[in-house]
Amino acid sequence: MSTLSSDKKIIIAIDGFSSSGKSTIAKALAREIGYRYVDTGAMYRAVTLYAMEHGMIASDGTVDTGRLTAALPEIKIGFEINADGTQHTMLDGTDVEDRIRRLDVSSNVSAVSAIAEVRAALVAMQQAYGAEKGIVMDGRDIGTTVFPHAEMKIFMNASAETRAQRRLQELIGKGQQVTFEEVLANVVRRDHLDQTRKESPLRRADDAIDLDNSRMTKDEQNAWLLARYRETIEKLS
Ligand code: C5P
Repeated sequence: MSTLSSDKKIIIAIDGFSSSGKSTIAKALAREIGYRYVDTGAMYRAVTLYAMEHGMIASDGTVDTGRLTAALPEIKIGFEINADGTQHTMLDGTDVEDRIRRLDVSSNVSAVSAIAEVRAALVAMQQAYGAEKGIVMDGRDIGTTVFPHAEMKIFMNASAETRAQRRLQELIGKGQQVTFEEVLANVVRRDHLDQTRKESPLRRADDAIDLDNSRMTKDEQNAWLLARYRETIEKLS
């Protein structure tokens, strides 16, 4: 356990726009302070992959909400820590970590995550993960809906171009053939859908601390977040 951890366990909610770098800093903080990390975007992506693989999404992107809702109790989502310490998303016992990051899943995920029944099922799982506190969770509605009483809330943003560029590097690094324009279009479209959906839209919690990381290095972001954590713990003790 890290020397930076405190006896006081809290919930840390990190929300923000697509590809704003939430998971990178959330993971680093969790490692540093000995907390569990949960990537809620991966959970929505896994349900989306399930729907795609079971023919529940038409070629025009329409989701068969009735069939997907009926299947929800059967869909088994979890996380496994690999030997190298990285966390992998599991769907019905299969490692889908790489598969869920592909652009086809990214293109369908906003429609799936707008379904009230999907959100209810995943929010319940997320709340159960946080029951013991000591957790860093990232997503879109963690500080507003999943844990409105989280002790620490961060809202991240960066320009759409910066975010698309980062996501492009990531996808190219994984050997995918995508263009900047395709990735930018997906980022802008998801931002719009996530902000305008009826069910818990992406919204900054009133008591969140803003982080615009457009011009920050990873180390600067990690240091910034760790400082916010220390301040929060100090205020609580
Ligand atoms: O974080 P990531 O980009 O992987 O999330 C994928 C999608 O999952 C988002 O575009 C959004 O539609 C959905 N999502 C959500 N609520 C969350 C996390 C992700 O609706 N808490």
